Amino acid sequence: MSAVIIDGAAVAARIRDELAGDVLAIGEGAAAPGLAVVLCGDDPASAVYVRNKGRVAEKLGIRFQLHTPPASSSTGELVALVRSLSDDPAIDGIIVQLPLPRHIEPDPVIDAVAPEKDADGFHPVNFGRLAEGRPSLVTPGTPAGCMELMRRYDVPIEGRRAAVIGRSTIVGRPMALLLTNAHATVTLCHSKTAALPAICREADILVAAAGRPGMVDATYVKPGACVIDVGITPTVDGLVGDVDRDSVEPVAGWLTPVPGGVGPMTIAMLMRHTVSLALARRHTAPV
Ligand code: NDP
Repeated sequence: MSAVIIDGAAVAARIRDELAGDVLAIGEGAAAPGLAVVLCGDDPASAVYVRNKGRVAEKLGIRFQLHTPPASSSTGELVALVRSLSDDPAIDGIIVQLPLPRHIEPDPVIDAVAPEKDADGFHPVNFGRLAEGRPSLVTPGTPAGCMELMRRYDVPIEGRRAAVIGRSTIVGRPMALLLTNAHATVTLCHSKTAALPAICREADILVAAAGRPGMVDATYVKPGACVIDVGITPTVDGLVGDVDRDSVEPVAGWLTPVPGGVGPMTIAMLMRHTVSLALARRHTAPV
C-alpha cells in the first residue's frame, strides 16, 4: 500500500474560497477586514513570504497594509509602530514577520501586538490560552494548518499517539499543544531526544519540523501512520522537506508532500485568523 498524499494546495484553495464569502459579508473597501504586516530588515525569504501573504489577502478582499521599517530600527521604534497598529481601529490583524534583525528583541515587539489583533497567535495571552486548552480564535498558523489538513483527510487523532520533532515556538511546541488539545498522547522531541526513530515509530501521527532535509525515513514510521512534513529547506533542486518521501510513502497511511503540503496552509490559516478577528471585533461572531 502507498500513502494517501495530502493535497495542501487544494485544501488551502478551498479555505480561501470559503473565506471570500465571509470577507464580502464583513464589508468592502474601507469596511473590509484590515491586515497589517511589519517587515523589518532585508531577509529575502521573509520578503517572499510577505509578498505571498499580501497577494492572497488582496485577492480575498482583505485590506493589506505593509510596514517596512529599516533594518537599523531599534526595539523601541518597532514596539512603537506595533503599538500604533494595535491602537488603529482600521486594523483587525497584525503580523510581525520573523525573524527580526538580530539586534532587536522579539519579545517586547510581539507583546506590543494587541491580543485581539494577533493574527499569528504568538502573543503570550493567545499562546497561554492554547497551553491551557482554552478556546482561542487564533493559534500559530503552520500547526493550525497541519491540524486542518488532518481534519479534512479524516485522520483519527483522539486517543492516538503522536510524535512531534522540533520544539520551536512557531511550529513544534504549538503543534504538540494542538494535538494534546485534540486528545492525542503526544511526545515532543528535539535535538537532545534519545532513541528518536524508536519513539517516532510508536506514533500514529508523526510531525517532522526540524529543518533537517530527508532525516525522516521509513525507520521512523509506523506502518499506516500519518506523516506531516513541515520542514522546508531550499536547495538547488528546489524545496526539500524533512521526510524522505521515496522511503516513507510505501509505509505511511497519509503523507504531506513538499512542496504542496503544509506550506500553502500557513497563509490560508493566517487569512482565516484575520477574518475571525475582524468578525470578533465587529461582534458579529462568538469569540
Ligand atoms: P527551528 O530551527 O526554530 O527549530 C527546529 C527544531 O528542530 C528545534 O527544536 C531542534 O531541537 C529540532 N531539531 C533540529 N535537528 C534535530 C534533529 N536532528 N533531531 C531532532 N530534533 C531536531 O525551526 P522552525 O521550527 O522554525 O522550523 C522547522 C522547519 O519547518 C524548517 O525547515 C522551516 O523552514 C519549516 N517551516 C515551515 C513552515 C511552513 O509553512 N511549511 C513554517 C515555519 C517553518 P532543539 O530545540 O534541541 O534545538
